[in-house]
Amino acid sequence: MSIPETPQEQVQHLSKKLQQSIQSRKQIEDDYRRDSERYSEFVNQLCLALNGVDNDLDSIIHQLRSQIQQNASAAILDPLIEKLSDAIANYTIKFQQQTKQTTDTISNALAKLEPSTKQAEKELASIEKAFEKPTMALTHYLPLVNRLLNLSHQCAVTKNEPKADAVATETYQAQLFDLLSEVEFSGNSAEALQQVKTALQKPQSLDTLMTISLKVMRLIFNSVNEERKSAQSFLQQLNASLESVNNILGNTVGASGYFAEQRDVLNEKLKLGVSDISDCVHGASEVFELKETVGSKLKQLGATLEQHILLQNHERENFTKNTSELEDKLRQTEAEVERYKRELAQQKFRSLQDALTKLPNRSAFEERLNMEFARWQKGQTALTIAIADVDFFKDVNDNFGHIAGDKTLQVIAGTLNKTLKNDGFVCRYGGEEFAIIFCLDENQVKEKMELAREKVANIPFKFKTDDIRITVSAGVASFKNNNDTTVSVFERADKALYQAKENGRNNVILAPDGY
Ligand code: GH3
Ligand code: MG
Ligand code: MG
Repeated sequence: MSIPETPQEQVQHLSKKLQQSIQSRKQIEDDYRRDSERYSEFVNQLCLALNGVDNDLDSIIHQLRSQIQQNASAAILDPLIEKLSDAIANYTIKFQQQTKQTTDTISNALAKLEPSTKQAEKELASIEKAFEKPTMALTHYLPLVNRLLNLSHQCAVTKNEPKADAVATETYQAQLFDLLSEVEFSGNSAEALQQVKTALQKPQSLDTLMTISLKVMRLIFNSVNEERKSAQSFLQQLNASLESVNNILGNTVGASGYFAEQRDVLNEKLKLGVSDISDCVHGASEVFELKETVGSKLKQLGATLEQHILLQNHERENFTKNTSELEDKLRQTEAEVERYKRELAQQKFRSLQDALTKLPNRSAFEERLNMEFARWQKGQTALTIAIADVDFFKDVNDNFGHIAGDKTLQVIAGTLNKTLKNDGFVCRYGGEEFAIIFCLDENQVKEKMELAREKVANIPFKFKTDDIRITVSAGVASFKNNNDTTVSVFERADKALYQAKENGRNNVILAPDGY
Protein backbone atom coordinates (compact mmCIF):
# COMPACT_ATOMS: atom_id res chain seq x y z
CA MET A 1 0.00 0.00 0.00
CA SER A 2 1.31 3.46 -1.11
CA ILE A 3 1.95 6.14 1.49
CA PRO A 4 -0.47 9.10 1.14
CA GLU A 5 1.12 12.23 -0.09
CA THR A 6 -1.28 15.07 0.32
CA PRO A 7 -2.95 15.95 3.60
CA GLN A 8 -6.23 15.21 1.90
CA GLU A 9 -5.01 11.80 0.92
CA GLN A 10 -3.68 11.31 4.41
CA VAL A 11 -7.06 12.18 5.90
CA GLN A 12 -8.79 9.77 3.50
CA HIS A 13 -6.30 7.07 4.41
CA LEU A 14 -6.74 7.61 8.12
CA SER A 15 -10.47 7.75 7.78
CA LYS A 16 -10.41 4.42 5.86
CA LYS A 17 -8.18 2.87 8.50
CA LEU A 18 -10.44 4.16 11.20
CA GLN A 19 -13.43 2.67 9.44
CA GLN A 20 -11.59 -0.65 9.05
CA SER A 21 -10.65 -0.48 12.64
CA ILE A 22 -14.23 0.34 13.64
CA GLN A 23 -15.45 -2.52 11.48
CA SER A 24 -13.04 -5.03 12.91
CA ARG A 25 -13.83 -3.73 16.35
CA LYS A 26 -17.50 -4.22 15.53
CA GLN A 27 -16.73 -7.72 14.25
CA ILE A 28 -14.94 -8.54 17.49
CA GLU A 29 -17.83 -7.15 19.51
CA ASP A 30 -20.34 -9.15 17.45
CA ASP A 31 -18.31 -12.31 17.91
CA TYR A 32 -17.99 -11.62 21.58
CA ARG A 33 -21.73 -10.96 21.87
CA ARG A 34 -22.54 -14.14 19.97
CA ASP A 35 -20.20 -16.14 22.15
CA SER A 36 -21.74 -14.62 25.24
CA GLU A 37 -25.19 -15.46 23.95
CA ARG A 38 -24.11 -19.00 23.28
CA TYR A 39 -22.66 -19.30 26.76
CA SER A 40 -25.70 -17.77 28.20
CA GLU A 41 -28.01 -20.13 26.29
CA PHE A 42 -25.86 -23.09 27.18
CA VAL A 43 -25.74 -22.20 30.84
CA ASN A 44 -29.50 -21.63 30.84
CA GLN A 45 -30.04 -25.08 29.38
CA LEU A 46 -27.65 -26.52 31.89
CA CYS A 47 -29.44 -24.76 34.73
CA LEU A 48 -32.79 -26.15 33.61
CA ALA A 49 -31.45 -29.65 33.29
CA LEU A 50 -29.34 -29.83 36.39
CA ASN A 51 -31.31 -27.65 38.73
CA GLY A 52 -31.59 -29.33 42.11
CA VAL A 53 -29.59 -32.36 41.07
CA ASP A 54 -26.53 -31.54 43.09
CA ASN A 55 -25.47 -28.67 45.36
CA ASP A 56 -21.96 -28.29 43.86
CA LEU A 57 -23.39 -28.10 40.35
CA ASP A 58 -25.98 -25.57 41.49
CA SER A 59 -23.42 -23.22 42.97
CA ILE A 60 -21.16 -23.23 39.84
CA ILE A 61 -24.15 -22.70 37.58
CA HIS A 62 -25.23 -19.79 39.74
CA GLN A 63 -21.77 -18.21 39.44
CA LEU A 64 -21.78 -18.69 35.66
CA ARG A 65 -25.17 -17.08 35.28
CA SER A 66 -24.27 -14.01 37.27
CA GLN A 67 -20.97 -13.60 35.36
CA ILE A 68 -22.79 -13.84 32.04
CA GLN A 69 -25.31 -11.25 33.18
CA GLN A 70 -22.39 -8.96 33.98
CA ASN A 71 -20.92 -9.58 30.48
CA ALA A 72 -17.83 -11.14 31.92
CA SER A 73 -14.91 -11.85 29.62
CA ALA A 74 -13.93 -15.32 28.43
CA ALA A 75 -10.97 -15.13 30.80
CA ILE A 76 -13.43 -15.24 33.70
CA LEU A 77 -15.93 -17.62 32.13
CA ASP A 78 -13.42 -20.24 30.93
CA PRO A 79 -12.23 -21.36 34.37
CA LEU A 80 -15.86 -21.52 35.51
CA ILE A 81 -16.75 -23.75 32.56
CA GLU A 82 -13.80 -25.96 33.43
CA LYS A 83 -14.97 -26.07 37.05
CA LEU A 84 -18.44 -27.03 35.90
CA SER A 85 -16.98 -29.75 33.75
CA ASP A 86 -15.11 -31.19 36.76
CA ALA A 87 -18.23 -30.94 38.92
CA ILE A 88 -20.25 -32.85 36.34
CA ALA A 89 -17.57 -35.56 36.23
CA ASN A 90 -17.56 -35.79 40.04
CA TYR A 91 -21.31 -35.90 40.16
CA THR A 92 -21.32 -38.71 37.60
CA ILE A 93 -18.99 -40.79 39.79
CA LYS A 94 -20.99 -39.96 42.92
CA PHE A 95 -24.21 -40.79 41.11
CA GLN A 96 -22.90 -44.12 39.88
CA GLN A 97 -21.82 -45.07 43.41
CA GLN A 98 -25.18 -44.03 44.80
CA THR A 99 -26.95 -46.01 42.10
CA LYS A 100 -24.96 -49.11 42.89
CA GLN A 101 -25.61 -48.73 46.61
CA THR A 102 -29.33 -48.27 46.04
CA THR A 103 -29.65 -51.18 43.66
CA ASP A 104 -27.66 -53.38 46.06
CA THR A 105 -29.95 -52.46 48.96
CA ILE A 106 -33.05 -53.03 46.87
CA SER A 107 -31.71 -56.35 45.60
CA ASN A 108 -30.97 -57.46 49.16
CA ALA A 109 -34.42 -56.38 50.28
CA LEU A 110 -36.01 -58.23 47.38
CA ALA A 111 -33.99 -61.33 48.22
CA LYS A 112 -35.58 -61.30 51.68
CA LEU A 113 -39.03 -61.71 50.17
CA GLU A 114 -39.95 -65.35 50.05
CA PRO A 115 -42.66 -65.60 47.44
CA SER A 116 -45.01 -68.49 48.01
CA THR A 117 -46.50 -68.58 44.53
CA LYS A 118 -44.78 -69.23 41.21
CA GLN A 119 -46.11 -65.95 39.81
CA ALA A 120 -44.74 -63.87 42.69
CA GLU A 121 -41.39 -65.64 42.24
CA LYS A 122 -41.30 -64.65 38.56
CA GLU A 123 -42.18 -61.05 39.34
CA LEU A 124 -39.38 -60.82 41.87
CA ALA A 125 -36.85 -62.29 39.47
CA SER A 126 -37.71 -59.75 36.78
CA ILE A 127 -37.56 -56.84 39.24
CA GLU A 128 -34.17 -57.98 40.46
CA LYS A 129 -32.97 -58.16 36.87
CA ALA A 130 -34.23 -54.65 36.13
CA PHE A 131 -32.37 -53.30 39.15
CA GLU A 132 -29.15 -55.00 38.10
CA LYS A 133 -28.74 -53.02 34.88
CA PRO A 134 -29.95 -49.47 35.24
CA THR A 135 -29.86 -47.72 31.88
CA MET A 136 -30.08 -44.06 32.59
CA ALA A 137 -29.88 -40.95 30.50
CA LEU A 138 -28.03 -39.02 33.15
CA THR A 139 -25.20 -41.50 33.77
CA HIS A 140 -24.87 -42.14 30.10
CA TYR A 141 -25.10 -38.62 28.76
CA LEU A 142 -23.36 -36.53 31.38
CA PRO A 143 -19.87 -37.53 30.19
CA LEU A 144 -20.99 -36.71 26.65
CA VAL A 145 -22.14 -33.30 27.78
CA ASN A 146 -18.72 -32.79 29.21
CA ARG A 147 -17.08 -33.75 25.96
CA LEU A 148 -19.38 -31.41 24.06
CA LEU A 149 -18.52 -28.69 26.48
CA ASN A 150 -14.80 -29.18 25.91
CA LEU A 151 -15.27 -29.35 22.16
CA SER A 152 -17.24 -26.10 22.11
CA HIS A 153 -14.61 -24.51 24.24
CA GLN A 154 -11.73 -25.60 22.00
CA CYS A 155 -13.69 -24.45 19.00
CA ALA A 156 -14.24 -21.02 20.47
CA VAL A 157 -10.51 -20.71 21.16
CA THR A 158 -9.34 -21.84 17.69
CA LYS A 159 -11.84 -19.54 16.09
CA ASN A 160 -9.63 -16.63 17.05
CA GLU A 161 -6.80 -18.18 15.03
CA PRO A 162 -7.94 -17.74 11.39
CA LYS A 163 -5.30 -20.04 9.94
CA ALA A 164 -6.34 -23.00 12.04
CA ASP A 165 -10.00 -22.53 11.07
CA ALA A 166 -10.36 -25.21 8.38
CA VAL A 167 -8.55 -27.94 10.37
CA ALA A 168 -10.37 -27.05 13.58
CA THR A 169 -13.76 -27.16 11.87
CA GLU A 170 -13.05 -30.54 10.32
CA THR A 171 -11.78 -32.03 13.59
CA TYR A 172 -14.66 -30.60 15.54
CA GLN A 173 -17.22 -31.92 13.06
CA ALA A 174 -15.65 -35.42 13.15
CA GLN A 175 -15.62 -35.45 16.97
CA LEU A 176 -19.18 -34.22 17.13
CA PHE A 177 -20.26 -36.90 14.67
CA ASP A 178 -18.46 -39.57 16.73
CA LEU A 179 -20.11 -38.38 19.87
CA LEU A 180 -23.57 -38.47 18.32
CA SER A 181 -23.14 -42.11 17.37
CA GLU A 182 -23.44 -42.80 21.11
CA VAL A 183 -26.68 -40.85 21.50
CA GLU A 184 -30.09 -42.30 20.96
CA PHE A 185 -33.50 -40.84 21.75
CA SER A 186 -37.11 -41.77 21.28
CA GLY A 187 -40.05 -39.72 19.96
CA ASN A 188 -39.56 -36.08 18.85
CA SER A 189 -35.99 -36.01 20.16
CA ALA A 190 -35.11 -38.94 17.89
CA GLU A 191 -36.29 -36.98 14.82
CA ALA A 192 -34.34 -33.89 15.84
CA LEU A 193 -31.23 -36.00 16.42
CA GLN A 194 -31.58 -37.61 12.99
CA GLN A 195 -31.69 -34.13 11.39
CA VAL A 196 -28.52 -33.18 13.24
CA LYS A 197 -26.77 -36.38 12.15
CA THR A 198 -27.79 -35.77 8.52
CA ALA A 199 -26.51 -32.20 8.70
CA LEU A 200 -23.17 -33.44 10.02
CA GLN A 201 -22.65 -35.65 6.96
CA LYS A 202 -21.91 -32.47 4.91
CA PRO A 203 -19.10 -30.03 5.80
CA GLN A 204 -20.42 -27.27 8.06
CA SER A 205 -19.08 -23.92 9.17
CA LEU A 206 -17.72 -23.57 12.70
CA ASP A 207 -20.70 -21.40 13.59
CA THR A 208 -23.18 -24.04 12.44
CA LEU A 209 -21.25 -26.67 14.40
CA MET A 210 -21.51 -24.55 17.52
CA THR A 211 -25.25 -24.18 16.95
CA ILE A 212 -25.54 -27.94 16.42
CA SER A 213 -23.62 -28.59 19.64
CA LEU A 214 -26.04 -26.46 21.57
CA LYS A 215 -28.98 -28.19 19.92
CA VAL A 216 -27.60 -31.59 20.90
CA MET A 217 -27.07 -30.39 24.46
CA ARG A 218 -30.64 -29.19 24.58
CA LEU A 219 -31.83 -32.58 23.35
CA ILE A 220 -29.71 -34.36 25.92
CA PHE A 221 -30.96 -32.16 28.73
CA ASN A 222 -34.54 -32.58 27.64
CA SER A 223 -34.08 -36.31 27.73
CA VAL A 224 -32.36 -36.16 31.11
CA ASN A 225 -35.18 -34.01 32.43
CA GLU A 226 -37.86 -36.34 31.10
CA GLU A 227 -36.08 -39.26 32.63
CA ARG A 228 -35.83 -37.39 35.90
CA LYS A 229 -39.50 -36.54 35.86
CA SER A 230 -40.49 -40.11 35.09
CA ALA A 231 -38.10 -41.36 37.76
CA GLN A 232 -39.71 -39.01 40.26
CA SER A 233 -43.22 -40.04 39.36
CA PHE A 234 -42.04 -43.62 39.45
CA LEU A 235 -40.73 -43.11 42.95
CA GLN A 236 -44.08 -41.66 43.97
CA GLN A 237 -45.92 -44.60 42.42
CA LEU A 238 -43.49 -46.97 44.02
CA ASN A 239 -44.09 -45.41 47.41
CA ALA A 240 -47.84 -45.49 46.91
CA SER A 241 -47.84 -49.14 45.94
CA LEU A 242 -45.48 -50.04 48.76
CA GLU A 243 -47.71 -48.19 51.16
CA SER A 244 -50.78 -49.99 49.91
CA VAL A 245 -49.02 -53.33 50.26
CA ASN A 246 -47.95 -52.34 53.75
CA ASN A 247 -51.50 -51.33 54.58
CA ILE A 248 -52.91 -54.60 53.37
CA LEU A 249 -50.35 -56.47 55.38
CA GLY A 250 -50.92 -54.27 58.39
CA ASN A 251 -54.69 -54.44 58.22
CA THR A 252 -54.92 -58.19 58.24
CA VAL A 253 -56.35 -59.08 61.58
CA GLY A 254 -54.71 -61.66 63.76
CA ALA A 255 -56.63 -64.85 64.04
CA SER A 256 -56.27 -68.16 65.74
CA GLY A 257 -55.60 -71.48 64.13
CA TYR A 258 -52.90 -73.06 62.06
CA PHE A 259 -53.62 -71.26 58.78
CA ALA A 260 -53.79 -67.86 60.44
CA GLU A 261 -50.46 -68.49 62.15
CA GLN A 262 -48.81 -69.55 58.92
CA ARG A 263 -50.17 -66.50 57.17
CA ASP A 264 -48.97 -64.19 59.91
CA VAL A 265 -45.44 -65.56 59.62
CA LEU A 266 -45.51 -65.03 55.86
CA ASN A 267 -46.96 -61.56 56.22
CA GLU A 268 -44.27 -60.58 58.67
CA LYS A 269 -41.56 -61.61 56.22
CA LEU A 270 -43.23 -59.75 53.36
CA LYS A 271 -43.72 -56.69 55.50
CA LEU A 272 -40.05 -56.66 56.43
CA GLY A 273 -38.95 -56.97 52.83
CA VAL A 274 -41.34 -54.34 51.59
CA SER A 275 -40.49 -51.84 54.29
CA ASP A 276 -36.78 -52.33 53.50
CA ILE A 277 -37.48 -51.42 49.88
CA SER A 278 -39.60 -48.52 51.05
CA ASP A 279 -36.75 -47.24 53.20
CA CYS A 280 -34.20 -47.29 50.45
CA VAL A 281 -36.65 -45.75 48.00
CA HIS A 282 -37.15 -42.88 50.43
CA GLY A 283 -33.41 -42.52 50.69
CA ALA A 284 -33.09 -42.45 46.94
CA SER A 285 -35.26 -39.52 46.06
CA GLU A 286 -32.55 -38.14 43.80
CA VAL A 287 -31.96 -41.39 42.03
CA PHE A 288 -33.09 -41.52 38.44
CA GLU A 289 -32.12 -45.00 37.45
CA LEU A 290 -35.44 -46.45 38.57
CA LYS A 291 -37.39 -47.10 35.39
CA GLU A 292 -41.13 -46.95 34.97
CA THR A 293 -41.16 -50.60 34.04
CA VAL A 294 -39.75 -51.48 37.43
CA GLY A 295 -42.58 -49.47 38.96
CA SER A 296 -45.24 -51.43 37.15
CA LYS A 297 -43.52 -54.69 38.07
CA LEU A 298 -43.55 -53.75 41.72
CA LYS A 299 -47.16 -52.74 41.40
CA GLN A 300 -47.85 -56.19 40.00
CA LEU A 301 -45.96 -57.68 42.90
CA GLY A 302 -48.16 -55.66 45.23
CA ALA A 303 -51.26 -56.92 43.42
CA THR A 304 -49.96 -60.48 43.56
CA LEU A 305 -49.35 -60.19 47.26
CA GLU A 306 -52.78 -58.70 47.70
CA GLN A 307 -54.32 -61.59 45.80
CA HIS A 308 -52.26 -64.00 47.77
CA ILE A 309 -53.45 -62.51 51.03
CA LEU A 310 -57.05 -62.37 49.86
CA LEU A 311 -56.77 -65.98 48.86
CA GLN A 312 -55.38 -66.94 52.22
CA ASN A 313 -58.09 -64.97 54.01
CA HIS A 314 -60.64 -66.62 51.82
CA GLU A 315 -59.14 -70.02 52.55
CA ARG A 316 -59.18 -69.30 56.25
CA GLU A 317 -62.75 -67.99 56.16
CA ASN A 318 -63.75 -71.06 54.21
CA PHE A 319 -61.94 -73.29 56.63
CA THR A 320 -63.53 -71.60 59.63
CA LYS A 321 -66.91 -71.62 57.91
CA ASN A 322 -66.55 -75.27 56.99
CA THR A 323 -65.38 -76.17 60.45
CA SER A 324 -68.19 -74.31 62.16
CA GLU A 325 -70.65 -75.79 59.67
CA LEU A 326 -69.28 -79.20 60.48
CA GLU A 327 -69.49 -78.46 64.18
CA ASP A 328 -73.06 -77.24 63.76
CA LYS A 329 -73.92 -80.38 61.83
CA LEU A 330 -72.28 -82.51 64.45
CA ARG A 331 -74.18 -80.72 67.21
CA GLN A 332 -77.41 -81.10 65.25
CA THR A 333 -76.75 -84.78 64.75
CA GLU A 334 -75.94 -85.24 68.42
CA ALA A 335 -79.12 -83.43 69.38
CA GLU A 336 -81.06 -85.58 66.94
CA VAL A 337 -79.56 -88.75 68.35
CA GLU A 338 -80.44 -87.56 71.84
CA ARG A 339 -83.98 -86.74 70.80
CA TYR A 340 -84.26 -90.06 69.02
CA LYS A 341 -83.02 -91.89 72.10
CA ARG A 342 -85.48 -89.99 74.27
CA GLU A 343 -88.28 -90.74 71.86
CA LEU A 344 -87.33 -94.39 71.77
CA ALA A 345 -87.39 -94.51 75.56
CA GLN A 346 -90.73 -92.73 75.58
CA GLN A 347 -92.10 -95.09 72.98
CA LYS A 348 -90.93 -98.04 75.03
CA PHE A 349 -92.49 -96.48 78.12
CA ARG A 350 -95.65 -95.81 76.16
CA SER A 351 -95.72 -99.34 74.85
CA LEU A 352 -95.52 -100.53 78.46
CA GLN A 353 -98.02 -97.97 79.71
CA ASP A 354 -101.77 -98.04 79.58
CA ALA A 355 -103.10 -94.93 77.91
CA LEU A 356 -106.28 -94.59 79.99
CA THR A 357 -105.03 -95.20 83.53
CA LYS A 358 -101.29 -94.37 82.90
CA LEU A 359 -100.50 -97.60 84.81
CA PRO A 360 -98.09 -100.19 83.39
CA ASN A 361 -99.94 -102.38 80.90
CA ARG A 362 -100.09 -106.10 80.43
CA SER A 363 -96.76 -106.23 78.53
CA ALA A 364 -95.09 -104.37 81.37
CA PHE A 365 -96.68 -106.77 83.83
CA GLU A 366 -95.34 -109.77 81.94
CA GLU A 367 -91.87 -108.28 81.53
CA ARG A 368 -91.67 -107.43 85.24
CA LEU A 369 -93.14 -110.78 86.28
CA ASN A 370 -90.50 -112.66 84.24
CA MET A 371 -87.78 -110.59 85.86
CA GLU A 372 -89.11 -111.12 89.40
CA PHE A 373 -89.68 -114.79 88.64
CA ALA A 374 -85.98 -115.14 87.73
CA ARG A 375 -85.03 -113.52 91.01
CA TRP A 376 -87.53 -115.73 92.91
CA GLN A 377 -85.97 -118.77 91.20
CA LYS A 378 -82.61 -117.72 92.59
CA GLY A 379 -84.30 -117.71 95.99
CA GLN A 380 -83.67 -114.07 96.52
CA THR A 381 -87.26 -112.85 97.22
CA ALA A 382 -90.81 -113.98 97.84
CA LEU A 383 -93.15 -113.53 94.87
CA THR A 384 -96.94 -113.17 94.88
CA ILE A 385 -99.49 -112.13 92.27
CA ALA A 386 -102.84 -110.46 92.93
CA ILE A 387 -105.57 -109.98 90.32
CA ALA A 388 -108.28 -107.45 91.08
CA ASP A 389 -111.45 -107.14 89.01
CA VAL A 390 -114.11 -104.46 89.26
CA ASP A 391 -117.45 -105.87 90.32
CA PHE A 392 -120.39 -105.48 88.01
CA PHE A 393 -118.56 -102.94 85.93
CA LYS A 394 -120.72 -103.64 82.96
CA ASP A 395 -123.57 -102.01 84.88
CA VAL A 396 -121.58 -98.79 85.20
CA ASN A 397 -121.17 -98.62 81.45
CA ASP A 398 -124.73 -99.62 80.89
CA ASN A 399 -126.21 -97.17 83.38
CA PHE A 400 -123.92 -94.18 83.01
CA GLY A 401 -122.18 -94.55 79.71
CA HIS A 402 -118.77 -95.59 78.51
CA ILE A 403 -117.14 -92.25 79.32
CA ALA A 404 -118.30 -92.46 82.94
CA GLY A 405 -117.00 -96.04 82.90
CA ASP A 406 -113.57 -94.77 81.71
CA LYS A 407 -113.44 -92.16 84.43
CA THR A 408 -114.42 -94.76 87.02
CA LEU A 409 -111.59 -97.00 85.82
CA GLN A 410 -109.13 -94.09 86.13
CA VAL A 411 -110.21 -93.37 89.69
CA ILE A 412 -110.03 -97.03 90.76
CA ALA A 413 -106.59 -97.39 89.09
CA GLY A 414 -105.37 -94.31 90.95
CA THR A 415 -106.62 -95.62 94.29
CA LEU A 416 -105.08 -99.07 93.79
CA ASN A 417 -101.76 -97.58 92.72
CA LYS A 418 -101.67 -95.08 95.53
CA THR A 419 -102.47 -97.74 98.11
CA LEU A 420 -100.14 -100.45 96.80
CA LYS A 421 -97.30 -98.77 94.91
CA ASN A 422 -94.88 -98.89 97.83
CA ASP A 423 -95.34 -102.64 98.12
CA GLY A 424 -96.18 -103.82 94.66
CA PHE A 425 -96.04 -103.21 90.93
CA VAL A 426 -99.60 -102.21 89.97
CA CYS A 427 -100.70 -102.79 86.34
CA ARG A 428 -103.83 -102.62 84.26
CA TYR A 429 -103.96 -106.14 82.95
CA GLY A 430 -106.87 -105.45 80.63
CA GLY A 431 -110.49 -104.21 80.70
CA GLU A 432 -111.50 -103.65 84.32
CA GLU A 433 -108.84 -106.05 85.62
CA PHE A 434 -105.67 -105.07 87.49
CA ALA A 435 -102.69 -107.31 88.23
CA ILE A 436 -100.19 -106.56 90.98
CA ILE A 437 -96.78 -108.14 91.56
CA PHE A 438 -95.53 -108.25 95.16
CA CYS A 439 -92.20 -109.34 96.48
CA LEU A 440 -94.07 -110.42 99.63
CA ASP A 441 -95.59 -113.63 100.83
CA GLU A 442 -99.31 -114.38 100.28
CA ASN A 443 -100.45 -113.37 103.77
CA GLN A 444 -98.76 -110.01 103.53
CA VAL A 445 -100.30 -109.54 100.12
CA LYS A 446 -103.74 -110.60 101.35
CA GLU A 447 -103.50 -107.87 103.96
CA LYS A 448 -102.38 -105.22 101.42
CA MET A 449 -105.13 -106.25 99.01
CA GLU A 450 -107.80 -106.09 101.71
CA LEU A 451 -106.71 -102.54 102.44
CA ALA A 452 -106.83 -101.61 98.76
CA ARG A 453 -110.25 -103.25 98.38
CA GLU A 454 -111.56 -101.15 101.29
CA LYS A 455 -110.12 -97.96 99.83
CA VAL A 456 -111.90 -98.61 96.55
CA ALA A 457 -115.12 -99.50 98.30
CA ASN A 458 -114.97 -96.21 100.14
CA ILE A 459 -114.57 -94.03 97.04
CA PRO A 460 -117.68 -91.80 96.98
CA PHE A 461 -118.68 -92.16 93.32
CA LYS A 462 -121.49 -89.90 92.20
CA PHE A 463 -123.08 -90.46 88.81
CA LYS A 464 -125.69 -87.83 87.96
CA THR A 465 -127.64 -87.73 91.20
CA ASP A 466 -126.84 -91.28 92.32
CA ASP A 467 -124.25 -92.01 94.96
CA ILE A 468 -122.67 -95.21 93.80
CA ARG A 469 -120.50 -97.69 95.59
CA ILE A 470 -118.06 -99.61 93.46
CA THR A 471 -116.11 -102.58 94.70
CA VAL A 472 -113.37 -104.89 93.54
CA SER A 473 -112.76 -108.60 94.08
CA ALA A 474 -109.25 -110.07 94.13
CA GLY A 475 -107.49 -113.42 93.94
CA VAL A 476 -104.01 -113.91 95.35
CA ALA A 477 -101.46 -116.63 94.53
CA SER A 478 -97.83 -117.05 95.55
CA PHE A 479 -94.89 -118.73 93.86
CA LYS A 480 -94.15 -121.67 96.09
CA ASN A 481 -93.07 -124.88 94.30
CA ASN A 482 -90.23 -125.47 91.92
CA ASN A 483 -92.88 -126.44 89.39
CA ASP A 484 -94.49 -123.02 89.57
CA THR A 485 -94.35 -120.91 86.41
CA THR A 486 -95.60 -117.43 85.73
CA VAL A 487 -98.52 -118.95 83.81
CA SER A 488 -99.46 -121.50 86.46
CA VAL A 489 -99.35 -119.05 89.35
CA PHE A 490 -101.35 -116.47 87.34
CA GLU A 491 -103.96 -119.12 86.64
CA ARG A 492 -104.20 -119.90 90.39
CA ALA A 493 -104.64 -116.22 91.17
CA ASP A 494 -107.35 -116.05 88.49
CA LYS A 495 -109.07 -119.03 90.00
CA ALA A 496 -108.96 -117.38 93.42
CA LEU A 497 -110.51 -114.27 91.85
CA TYR A 498 -113.25 -116.41 90.40
CA GLN A 499 -113.73 -117.77 93.86
CA ALA A 500 -113.97 -114.25 95.26
CA LYS A 501 -116.69 -113.44 92.74
CA GLU A 502 -118.42 -116.60 93.67
CA ASN A 503 -118.21 -115.62 97.30
CA GLY A 504 -120.28 -112.53 96.67
CA ARG A 505 -117.64 -110.05 95.42
CA ASN A 506 -115.87 -107.24 97.29
CA ASN A 507 -113.49 -109.72 98.89
CA VAL A 508 -109.98 -111.10 98.54
CA ILE A 509 -109.26 -114.83 98.18
CA LEU A 510 -105.94 -116.60 98.67
CA ALA A 511 -105.41 -119.37 96.16
CA PRO A 512 -105.32 -122.62 98.09
CA ASP A 513 -102.26 -124.80 97.68
CA GLY A 514 -104.17 -127.46 95.83
CA TYR A 515 -105.02 -125.30 92.80
P1 GH3 B 1 -118.19 -109.12 87.31
O1 GH3 B 1 -118.48 -108.57 88.66
O2 GH3 B 1 -118.60 -110.51 87.15
O3 GH3 B 1 -116.81 -108.86 86.90
O4 GH3 B 1 -119.15 -108.28 86.35
P2 GH3 B 1 -118.69 -107.33 85.28
O5 GH3 B 1 -119.81 -106.62 84.71
O6 GH3 B 1 -117.62 -106.44 85.79
O7 GH3 B 1 -118.03 -108.26 84.22
P3 GH3 B 1 -118.16 -108.39 82.68
O8 GH3 B 1 -117.04 -109.20 82.21
O9 GH3 B 1 -119.51 -108.93 82.40
O10 GH3 B 1 -118.10 -106.94 82.13
C1 GH3 B 1 -116.95 -106.21 82.06
C2 GH3 B 1 -117.21 -104.96 81.39
O11 GH3 B 1 -116.21 -104.01 81.50
C3 GH3 B 1 -117.48 -105.16 79.92
C4 GH3 B 1 -116.79 -104.01 79.25
O12 GH3 B 1 -117.60 -103.24 78.46
C5 GH3 B 1 -116.28 -103.18 80.38
N1 GH3 B 1 -115.03 -102.63 80.05
C6 GH3 B 1 -113.86 -103.30 79.83
N2 GH3 B 1 -112.88 -102.42 79.55
C7 GH3 B 1 -113.43 -101.16 79.59
C8 GH3 B 1 -112.93 -99.85 79.36
O13 GH3 B 1 -111.75 -99.62 79.10
N3 GH3 B 1 -113.80 -98.78 79.53
C9 GH3 B 1 -115.09 -98.97 79.82
N4 GH3 B 1 -115.90 -97.91 79.97
N5 GH3 B 1 -115.58 -100.18 80.01
C10 GH3 B 1 -114.79 -101.29 79.88
MG1 MG C 1 -113.58 -108.81 84.23
MG1 MG D 1 -115.70 -107.31 86.42
